[in-house]
Amino acid sequence: LTQLPNRVSFEARVQDAILQSGRRDQPFAIVCLELDGSGEIEERFGGVVADQVLKSQAAALQKTLRRGDILARLCGQRFVAIILNVAAHQEILPAVHRMMHAATTPVMAEDHQLQSSASIGVSFYPQELDVEAQELISQAEEAMLQSQKSGRNLYSFCNEARSEGGGEKERRLDRIRQALREGEFVLFYQPRVHLSRGEVFGVEALVRWRHPDRGLLAPAAFLPQMDENHLGIELGEWVLESALRQIKVWNASGQGLTVSVNISPYHLMQPDFVRRLEVLLEPYSTEVCRRLELEIFGAGSGDPKPIAAVANACKKMGIRVILDDFGSVRATLADLRQIPVQGVKISPLFVRDLQHNPDDVVILESMLNMTRSLGRQCAAVGVESVAVGLQLLHLGCEKAQGYGIALPMEGASIPEWIAGWKPDSSWMEANTVGVEERLLVYTQVEHQAWITALGAFLRDERDSEPVLGRHQCQLGHFIDAEEQAGRNTHSSFQSLAALHWRIHALGTGIVKLYNQGKSEEGMARLADLRDLFEKMIEQLRAFRMKV
Ligand code: C2E
Ligand code: MG
Repeated sequence: LTQLPNRVSFEARVQDAILQSGRRDQPFAIVCLELDGSGEIEERFGGVVADQVLKSQAAALQKTLRRGDILARLCGQRFVAIILNVAAHQEILPAVHRMMHAATTPVMAEDHQLQSSASIGVSFYPQELDVEAQELISQAEEAMLQSQKSGRNLYSFCNEARSEGGGEKERRLDRIRQALREGEFVLFYQPRVHLSRGEVFGVEALVRWRHPDRGLLAPAAFLPQMDENHLGIELGEWVLESALRQIKVWNASGQGLTVSVNISPYHLMQPDFVRRLEVLLEPYSTEVCRRLELEIFGAGSGDPKPIAAVANACKKMGIRVILDDFGSVRATLADLRQIPVQGVKISPLFVRDLQHNPDDVVILESMLNMTRSLGRQCAAVGVESVAVGLQLLHLGCEKAQGYGIALPMEGASIPEWIAGWKPDSSWMEANTVGVEERLLVYTQVEHQAWITALGAFLRDERDSEPVLGRHQCQLGHFIDAEEQAGRNTHSSFQSLAALHWRIHALGTGIVKLYNQGKSEEGMARLADLRDLFEKMIEQLRAFRMKV
């Protein structure tokens, strides 16, 4: 497909490079890159488009290489390259950045702008101990998996010396101290958008460590060690300062973006937090200061009063404060009741699986209603697909952030991203929160989950049959209510009700087949059930337009 060498021939080339390196003292690096997001491209546009996109990404990657460097495709979306003449770890960075940029530059397919993210891992040659080609490649793959686990668009270097002896924690803290001194921390920014207006209203500042030996590290790799330590406060202040500087730059160029900064509980609870914040804000104009927003967590099982006091003081200074990760143990209903925040960010816990989990739909809708009734604004984090964005809109949540919209990126890339961003057309056309939109979300998720569970039951992957009676689901309630009110005469309503009835009858029939030992036959009917489901959703959409 990509005309690139495969794993076997790449291994042979690496073996050559090892021999050459020995003879001519030429160190080199192996860079492994895996694309994410192609699954969704295939799902939405089919295999042919996904293949086209992969081909153009492979070509773009190839273009980033210098003469003598070699690119290969290991499998699926995984590529690997030999980069020659890399004496020190930092020397690989230009190549890593070029490859990351090439892999994540949007590609046009069928009038849609498609974007993938990538994870990179690097291993180096020579190493202290002898190492074979195969092992070098595995090391780069392992480092890539490490990046993938930590987030997206990150790179990791293979760490040869992994053992950790005593005093390790102190050494790590020393290393972090040095990183702060030497400016190794960078702020990335993830766009926050208004889905239906197609407007970028702000960004969240997310810290990264550009570690010279280990790669671009996500906060999970270093924040926990700094927690409850003065270093965490130093980093927190550095983040605030950098965010303010960035706001000033954007303001000067007419880009009025709100920048949200995460504040750790330990930092927030420092008795002089507010005073220190005032000092940091002092050099900046009111215009700049009011663009800063703080993301905080609740009190857990502790006393929320000190946090409430800080939130109040910030409010007086014109700084917005919002409750992050709302709905998780870090930010509960009790916190919302007692801390005067202007808004909440719904935890990705309830967003990620929205398409498949009916309970999440109910929880999310209740959270939206509640925060709205309490006069707080609401935003969602963790929107990984267009479909979830649309569901959120239908439930009335318009502010969102997630990999499906944009990955965190360096501040310098934000203006270009904003200029080029086009929200999905379905978001722009969506009606927000009406009875029918809500019904559409529930009908899709409830029936989809039920059909998936029926499949699992037929394959003996679950013990009990999934029960969803036709008067139990939300669409069933709606149909019953319309019939009772005598609003059931329109032909489009009748077609919808008939399809709904057939779906539930077929579901019952499938369970019956299984109980008669005919699970193969049941499986075959499952495809009919899926067809009927698609038809019902179409009918519901058409019906909705007529209402
Ligand atoms: P958070 O405040 O909840 O930030 C959102 C995290 O979710 C970010 O991870 C972001 O990259 C990730 N994310 C965004 N969209 C999606 C998505 O669609 N899917 C998935 N799976 N993840 C998504 P990141 O940058 O690794 O940060 C993790 C956490 O570290 C943050 O969670 C925040 O609590 C903390 N953090 C980050 N930067 C700072 C900082 O400057 N100071 C402090 N105190 N904490 C920070
Ligand atoms: Mg946050």
